[in-house]
Amino acid sequence: MTPRYPFLDLRAENEPYLDELTRAAARVIASGRYIGGPEVERFESQLASLVGTDYAVGVSNGLDALRLTLRAMVELGMLSPGDEVILPANTFIASLLAIKDAGLTPVCADISPATLLLSPESVERLITPRTRAIMPVHLYGRVCWSAALADICRRHTLYIIEDCAQAIGATATYPGINATLPAGSIGHAAAFSFYPTKNVGALGDAGAVTTSSPEIARMVRTLANYGSTERNRYPYAGFNCRLDPIQAAMLSVKLAHVGEINRRRTLVARAYSRSITHPAVMLPPLPAEERECVWHQYVVQLPPQLRQPFRSALLADGVETDIHYPIPVHLQPCGAGSARTPLPHAEETARSIVSLPIGAPTTPAAAEEIARIIDHALAHLTEKP
Ligand SMILES: *Cc1c(COP(=O)(O)O)cnc(C)c1O
Repeated sequence: MTPRYPFLDLRAENEPYLDELTRAAARVIASGRYIGGPEVERFESQLASLVGTDYAVGVSNGLDALRLTLRAMVELGMLSPGDEVILPANTFIASLLAIKDAGLTPVCADISPATLLLSPESVERLITPRTRAIMPVHLYGRVCWSAALADICRRHTLYIIEDCAQAIGATATYPGINATLPAGSIGHAAAFSFYPTKNVGALGDAGAVTTSSPEIARMVRTLANYGSTERNRYPYAGFNCRLDPIQAAMLSVKLAHVGEINRRRTLVARAYSRSITHPAVMLPPLPAEERECVWHQYVVQLPPQLRQPFRSALLADGVETDIHYPIPVHLQPCGAGSARTPLPHAEETARSIVSLPIGAPTTPAAAEEIARIIDHALAHLTEKP
């Protein structure tokens, strides 16, 4: 039985665009062009203009976008095997996998408890002579960028590779220089995922790299196409990580609606923040500027011992929840050795977080109803015996 308030329903997510998607798919099927070509080019120029970079390169998925970027930087001599790349411990595993895949050394930093994003103080403490890059992850759709991080990168001449998988359409407002930077244009290169559950989702796997470096863009494209620079020439040991034209066509449709997609999520987030009142739950901070967060997830925190009873009580009332992510990457077997210091905030957070429904079909009205269910459940769970 489907719950009254499902965590996410991808059919509902794509419902408003079904006609457009169907027409776009038919166009690709009739075109006879099933690899590369105008659909991919159109999507790439749409993305580059949204993000404000000179280049966007469509690739197979978000993990490949990250690993092709890092491999490209190794091929170009910007990074060397064994160089250390600092990433937050609270992220999706792909951030770490990509660093390892490129022969680089992942070093997990702690997160700031207020934002749940990479902590500048923790990054500073982890810098060694081998540190060459940082990977800010715009987790839950919130831009991870600050004057403090910018200053660290400048002082230690670090490359910045953004993980934008959850943050399409978000914009950093940059204190000091009074500028705004779209996520994906802040660093030297950025990786996007269009996995179906992301804010802008394909109807299958898809990803992209954005950069204003012509060298990185060209190398990513080369590596994603067997390492070939021209027909029958293979100077690099590459991969097949291209973006399919059929997914590019789906994404062209969805990307044109990114503003309204993110707006809907923002209204749901605001409805939660307005309506959940019980003091046992800690709500995510509303960003100072609305566009700094595109609300890929709405993540609340509870005392760890309440989390499981809370989730069960909600489910009994028809509200599905999830956890992003229950195990920080440095505690995964494949992340062994990536923590050089204790990471208390990442570990405590992993025990306290709960993601509430925010994707379709959740509406602001549904969020208000879910908020009532939450307050009711917590009143019950925190009652003195
Ligand atoms: C989804 C995601 C990825 C990986 O993207 P895929 O397309 O699933 O490979 C990487 N990083 C983060 C933070 C993500 O959420």
